Amino acid sequence: MSTSMLRLVWIYPDLLSTYGDRGNLLILAHRAESRRILTESIMVRSDRPIPREADIYLIGGGEDGPQSLAANKMIADGAVAEAASLGKVIFAVCAGYQILGESFVASGERCGGLGLLDMRSDRGETRAVGELSGKVDPRLNLPELTGFENHGGRTHLGPESSPLASVEHGIGNDGAGEGAWRDKIVGTYLHGPALARNPALADLLLAWSIGRQPSELPVLDDAWAGKLRGERLAALPST
Ligand code: GLN
Repeated sequence: MSTSMLRLVWIYPDLLSTYGDRGNLLILAHRAESRRILTESIMVRSDRPIPREADIYLIGGGEDGPQSLAANKMIADGAVAEAASLGKVIFAVCAGYQILGESFVASGERCGGLGLLDMRSDRGETRAVGELSGKVDPRLNLPELTGFENHGGRTHLGPESSPLASVEHGIGNDGAGEGAWRDKIVGTYLHGPALARNPALADLLLAWSIGRQPSELPVLDDAWAGKLRGERLAALPST
């Protein structure tokens, strides 16, 4: 496929990058390059400005301290909010997902988020740890999501955001919904990394970023990803 260079930005690897979330960047770059879409992967440490000129912005998970620091820096930087207003693709995991909301609780304090998704996070009584799976919002036309979660937060969506999936196993936002999306902004509690375990979601983000439908992307051999998905989904207790 011909398109100009696709710029992928990994935001604050020094603060937000738990459980191999950087794999999301590698997967997107690999799946784009396999379709002859050239990519540039930019890792932006938290002492550097986030590039304004990019196509996909990725944010990972993190512990409470780095999470609130990262949120403050992203708010001050302004590039992620600008990217959202320009309709760029944003994909955020766990702490990164919470930062996209109006506010979240970290280390006992309520902290402001970017306000790009209509949602607020607080703390649950227990930590949500384990496999997470769910049926995706049918408008996104994706197969079941699979990954694992490890978070203390619970997330409550307002009317302007839709849950990414309905939970089948695990907790996600609140035991019923998992993740959130609007326009080309997607947040999820899934680690794994999420895009390694959900290649169709990776392709949706890629398709959005180049203004195509996922069905227009050349098909890739996903036998290994399929094996991984099959193993993890088969390991879930039956409901
Ligand atoms: N600190 C957040 C929480 O515990 C996010 C954790 C994470 O990113 N794994 O809810």
